[in-house]
Amino acid sequence: MKRIIANLIQLQNVDTRLDELKLQKGDLPVLIEQTEEDLAEKQALLKELMEKRSKMESDRKMFEMEVEASRVQLKKYEEQLYQVKTNKEYDAISLEIDTKKLEIEGLDNKIIELLENQEAIEKEIEEVKQEIENIEKQLVEYRNELEEISELTKAEEDRLHQEREKIVAEIEPRLYAQYERIRKAKGGVAVAPVRRNACGGCFSQIPPQKIVEIRELNRIITCEYCGRILVWDESE
Ligand SMILES: [Zn+2]
Repeated sequence: MKRIIANLIQLQNVDTRLDELKLQKGDLPVLIEQTEEDLAEKQALLKELMEKRSKMESDRKMFEMEVEASRVQLKKYEEQLYQVKTNKEYDAISLEIDTKKLEIEGLDNKIIELLENQEAIEKEIEEVKQEIENIEKQLVEYRNELEEISELTKAEEDRLHQEREKIVAEIEPRLYAQYERIRKAKGGVAVAPVRRNACGGCFSQIPPQKIVEIRELNRIITCEYCGRILVWDESE
């Protein structure tokens, strides 16, 4: 039991130090994550806009070809108009000419509209590209900053993680799960020393009988108020 409790104390020390190192990095890891998400979002938007633009372009080309064909047709009708022999024929061709002219006008309007839309989307694409560039710059800055901090702490962190693995391997899985659960719920502190007859985690008084038990290290004793695992502080 002594060994189990010693392991728990050691694990808590390692985790507390790891938390301190994590704190030194501040909100950089979160910032980086958020910035990466922003970047992915903008890149998806850019892709969408570029697809829209190429659809507009192919539509416009199609309409331009249709206009071209209609103009050729119109020219033919206009030539035919000089060769007609009857009024009926004249009326029929005149009607064809009017229809073609309307058709061309309609297509021209569509082309103009597409050109205007294309201009707007072009502007939007440029804006999004600029935004992406800015986000990428910011991301590089954040990453460099984090790397600088990490370089200072990396060796220690690696050592602590190795140490942690060794300790965890020696702790019974159920007890480890309990430790992790308390740690998560109690701001990172699962193992609290007894200080001045009180829980070092929540400062609640501990009955004398319990203190004797804690000193004897015979079983895992938790604080009845905060649930933390109580251990005897040798310096007391
Ligand atoms: Zn407590």
